[in-house]
Amino acid sequence: MTDYGTRVIEGIKARDPQQKEFIQAVTEMLDSLSPMLQAHPEYERMAILERLTEPERAIMFKVPLETDDGRLEVYRGYRVQFNSAIGPYKGGLRLHPSVNLSIMKFLGFEQIFKNALTTLPIGGAKGGSDFDPKTHSEAEVRRFCASFMTELYRHIGPDTDVPAGDMGVGGREIGYLYGQYRRLVGHSEPGVLTGKGLTFGGSLARTEATGFGLVYFLQEVLKQHPIANPRLIISGSGNVAIYAAVKAQQCGYTVVAMSDSKGYITDPQLDVATVRKIKEQMRKGLDLYPQMAGHGTYHAGSVYDAVIPCDVVLPCGTQNEIDAARARNIAADGARIVAEGANMPDNNDAIAFYRQQGMIFVPGKAANAGGVATSALEMTQNSQRLSWTFDQVDAKLHGIMQDIHGQCQKACAEYGLAPDDYVAGANIAGAGKVITAMIAQGLY
Ligand code: NDP
Repeated sequence: MTDYGTRVIEGIKARDPQQKEFIQAVTEMLDSLSPMLQAHPEYERMAILERLTEPERAIMFKVPLETDDGRLEVYRGYRVQFNSAIGPYKGGLRLHPSVNLSIMKFLGFEQIFKNALTTLPIGGAKGGSDFDPKTHSEAEVRRFCASFMTELYRHIGPDTDVPAGDMGVGGREIGYLYGQYRRLVGHSEPGVLTGKGLTFGGSLARTEATGFGLVYFLQEVLKQHPIANPRLIISGSGNVAIYAAVKAQQCGYTVVAMSDSKGYITDPQLDVATVRKIKEQMRKGLDLYPQMAGHGTYHAGSVYDAVIPCDVVLPCGTQNEIDAARARNIAADGARIVAEGANMPDNNDAIAFYRQQGMIFVPGKAANAGGVATSALEMTQNSQRLSWTFDQVDAKLHGIMQDIHGQCQKACAEYGLAPDDYVAGANIAGAGKVITAMIAQGLY
């Protein structure tokens, strides 16, 4: 870490000591930017890191909800518009009880660099609420989305800020959010949200994009570090995990385990269709899997506390799922590659451990960028009033993931780093673009 980076982090800790996740994300970022900061001493004079780590705008608002039985609940809504140097703010909305300002800021901060890596003109943002859609009825979710959008709508727009889905926000929620937005502004404006239904401006392949993109990135890594018949653990069983599993199986890889927040399943013939049915249709737990699939085993607890021989781990659940102890279990499983489908599922101790073991680690901002890239492709289609075919979108997504892999390696070469230092490669490549745009646009 450079002295400048250390001073900036100390400043953030002094100002917002309770924002653990945000401090963690900034520490990882600034540490890996060290070679670039050393090569550009002028960044300190320009206060680039101070400007980069302060959101342009952070909106917090109340979201009241009347439940089906007439009780009143009040949730907290957020939209952190972090950086728009290279385009309109773009980033998902998360509905989960753990949502707070620190998590919104960490996600918005990471989104800036991820979006820059996609090569598409989009800035970084994140939003959401501490509302839990899993413990509310369909009608309550609909009323919550309408209440949330009743405040959010004045802060977003196709050229201002374009939210999308994230944990707890899938096609159903995006539909309700868009319906309320349209009602409030009084006209059709599909470019204001991405992840929409296919009949009102959604893009084919958006649902699959993050998981598919993750596996496209993995394919690039495997070209340089071949593993015969790789066995994969994929944690999570939501949008990212499911489509990572689908694409992995299409590539001929073996998915040996998947998980959810309560437990995990192991199954050499893992039936992703059954996982989809349980999660997407029934919205239930994976404990139902063995009986429904007719094979496989369910275990309570984390998949990373168990010993499951594998070659590749794709963490696709949530942040900080893997600490140093779990990273040790992953190494003991025989895994040689960890590529993040989720945002920051590995803490900094876990990442340091992988590095020490000589394992290959790909951070989420590179490996899971396929989702936001395809969201930007949805924005392009909305602007053109066109719909591309699944194969057209998928081919562009594939090309973007290959390009991101290339950008990471190019940045490593430029600063004399190992070609598979994907943390430094992604951070330097993404930050380089944003910083260049910020400097060109004056003091903001
Ligand atoms: P979903 O809500 O669809 O799925 C989340 C999954 O993670 C669920 O299976 C959930 O289990 C599981 N999970 C939640 N908490 C834990 C926990 N503490 N331990 C283990 N598993 C847990 O979310 P997404 O798939 O959309 O997102 C997953 C991750 O990927 C998030 O970090 C998100 O920010 C990131 N991401 C998502 C993108 C997208 O396009 N959707 C794009 C880029 C990143 P349960 O079913 O029991 O709730």
